[in-house]
Amino acid sequence: MVLFECELSDHCQMSNFKQQLETVWGSSLGTYLFSVRDLLEKHFSSNEVNGWWERIEPYLLSTFRKNGKTNFWETQISQLPSIKNSNVDGERVVEVKSSDVVSQLDIDDIQTALQNLKPWRKGPFNYFGIHVDSEWRSDMKWARISSVLGSLQNKKVLDVGCGNGYYMWRMLDKGASLVLGIDPSVLCLAQFRSLNRYVPNMPVGMIPVGTETLSEDMSWFDLVFSMGVLYHRRDPISHLIELRNMLKPGGRLVLETLIIDSHEKERLIPKSRYAQMRNVWELSSPPVIEEMLQRVGFQDVSCIDISKTTIEEQRATHWIESFSLKNFLDPMDCSRTVEGYPAPVRACFIAVL
Ligand code: SAH
Repeated sequence: MVLFECELSDHCQMSNFKQQLETVWGSSLGTYLFSVRDLLEKHFSSNEVNGWWERIEPYLLSTFRKNGKTNFWETQISQLPSIKNSNVDGERVVEVKSSDVVSQLDIDDIQTALQNLKPWRKGPFNYFGIHVDSEWRSDMKWARISSVLGSLQNKKVLDVGCGNGYYMWRMLDKGASLVLGIDPSVLCLAQFRSLNRYVPNMPVGMIPVGTETLSEDMSWFDLVFSMGVLYHRRDPISHLIELRNMLKPGGRLVLETLIIDSHEKERLIPKSRYAQMRNVWELSSPPVIEEMLQRVGFQDVSCIDISKTTIEEQRATHWIESFSLKNFLDPMDCSRTVEGYPAPVRACFIAVL
């Protein structure tokens, strides 16, 4: 009897959530989210997944509600034509293609919908021959990191702050058995879904929530990525603890972030903006980051790459229609940002739990 009541209340709660989603944004958003839930249930125990899911439902509803453009982006996704026999290739570029001939009419509709999902910060992507030339050449970062990563065969991977999911397709190509991305950006979710809808059966899903929805008992993953997120967090140590909690014992963390390029222990707290970004709280030098990683329990910390961001890697394209790195550097001295800080340098660390 108790079990029955439990099942009944779970069911009511779930359908209530689905009903609310469907009433406000139509059925496809709910169908998508529940497909990610099903995917997670295939890889983890139902109890674990249910516990997390119950916690994130209110976040999801409030995230969609707060974003005034959720409906517009949903409409763009619903207007993407169906293309049969599609597959995705994440080896050199992220490209979705079909073994069927795709008509010019369909190409035009896809182009219009994708243009309406601007700005495209991460990429590039290729949709049936349409080149989505994003602001960032994310392939350049992936080339620096993936050469050191090795195979991801049979690994369950979490990408924290996954953006539009560019790297998740690259991770699948390296053999990951599951890739889950979390990122609170509703636009990024729409961009992810614009590709995912053509290959819905791949073991990849994105949920629009932030790390605040994660808890201490979610050590589910073999590999956790946090790329381009640390400096957006007010408290870097707390972020590293959140990442640690998602890893199985012996799992690996890939942490990529802006740094102060120095062998000394240095930190920079920008007075206000950094390279025009409002939400950069702190930049540290590699020795500080290594120390923080060790402090929260990681071992074998190694810095695998340090690279200055170039205007080839981050630049304005007609898929963003706004300024980019060139405009954020001092025009008289490109080693400085317009605010007078050292120009962006990024580093990537790998650490083992
Ligand atoms: N990982 C991608 C995107 C980095 S941009 C890359 O390396 O190119 C930073 C992303 O972090 C943004 O999409 C932002 O929405 C996301 N983000 C910010 N705070 C977050 C949080 N608390 N949890 C998860 N993602 C977060």
